[in-house]
Amino acid sequence: MPILVMKFGGTSVATLDRIHRASKRVAREVANGYDVIVIVSAMSGRTNELVGWVEETSPLFDAREYDAVVSSGENVTAGLMALRLQEMDVPARSWQGWQVPVKTSGVHSAARIQDIPNDNIMAKFGEGMRVAVVAGFQGIADDGRITTLGRGGSDTTAVAFAAAFGAERCDIYTDVDGVYTTDPRISDKARKLDRIAFEEMLELASLGAKVLQTRSVELAMRYKVKLRVLSSFEEYDPEAGTLVCDEEDIVESKVVAGVAYQRDEAKMTLISVADRPGIASAIFTPLAEAGVNVDMIVQNISEEGRTDMTFSCPVDQVARAEKAMTDAKARGDINFHDIVADKDVAKVSVVGIGMRSHTGIAAKMFDVLSKEGINIKVITTSEIKISVLIDRKYMELAVQALHDAFELEKA
Ligand code: ADP
Ligand code: ASP
Ligand code: MG
Repeated sequence: MPILVMKFGGTSVATLDRIHRASKRVAREVANGYDVIVIVSAMSGRTNELVGWVEETSPLFDAREYDAVVSSGENVTAGLMALRLQEMDVPARSWQGWQVPVKTSGVHSAARIQDIPNDNIMAKFGEGMRVAVVAGFQGIADDGRITTLGRGGSDTTAVAFAAAFGAERCDIYTDVDGVYTTDPRISDKARKLDRIAFEEMLELASLGAKVLQTRSVELAMRYKVKLRVLSSFEEYDPEAGTLVCDEEDIVESKVVAGVAYQRDEAKMTLISVADRPGIASAIFTPLAEAGVNVDMIVQNISEEGRTDMTFSCPVDQVARAEKAMTDAKARGDINFHDIVADKDVAKVSVVGIGMRSHTGIAAKMFDVLSKEGINIKVITTSEIKISVLIDRKYMELAVQALHDAFELEKA
């Protein structure tokens, strides 16, 4: 029988009633003749609660125990959905990551899926099971410890299963009815896209559009998974949602496809570091080893052999970054006068494949922000995106002004 992967995010399984509604969608696909692999998230808010408990117990926590705790939310929903399907006379069984097994790297809290042997689940399909309900977001490392895939990781579990099982399609059911030109919660002018190119989706996701986890888009692109995002709340319509597809399959596309934002950024500056060969490595190696996700980097012009080094990272990693830097200073590996953290910044980005061939997008972006009186603190660009760091209080305004200026509400 053909296989379909259906993923339900946190809000889609937030209550027993919603699990029931999601199960009905699954049952319909079973009736349509599919063997279904369902990937579930934890009930909405549960993962945040678990993360909060970990941080309260141990601020600079051991990531292995973080994974042991935060992976548990998905186990509950997987079991509940299997039970609900059984109540509907659909032969279903739940699977935790390690039971499949979903084999991952050992980088706790940010593990990567390496292999999903499909023989266990395929054997069960052969015996008449019609639905495997798999706990998303989790796996097992070589040393036998449980891992998690980073926030939003159930999307990646879903795409990885679609690839491993040669699924006909991977449907991501969520609380919006597709991918929009920007977060519909920030701008009421956001427009739903019927199709979006993998490259654009990849950039939007990595720049903060959390509708899909970045790694899930990477995998879909590499393994040519047919990936669709759609609402778990609306009436079923086979044409609904947004298809993430190859650039060639999009008839018309605009220069700018969308605007993304990352609200909880921090800007950190090391004041007066010795400007010598190897200094960047001496700073960024310990940061990487401490698990700090450094994003933008700016080095100022040096004066008398000393310079300021600025970088951005997620605001909840500031304490880790400060510790890594003060430890490196104590070891004598680097020398700086002070370390300053600005915890009130956000990143706003515009993305579009059309930027490869159109000039002037950056100039227009800076002009729009200046007319709104928004000061730009750091800028980075790549072939198909421009990002700026600004004061967090202006984030919504910046997103809306850019969405207007690039006329994204118009098809
Ligand atoms: P789930 O729990 O189903 O995984 P998420 O909360 O992770 O759902 O992702 C869905 C959310 O992504 C939406 O509620 C929306 O606020 C947000 N979002 C951000 N950018 C976009 C975008 N460009 N298009 C659609 N949704 C977006
Ligand atoms: N429950 C996890 C999270 O909230 C994984 C997911 O929902 O995709 O990040
Ligand atoms: Mg998500």
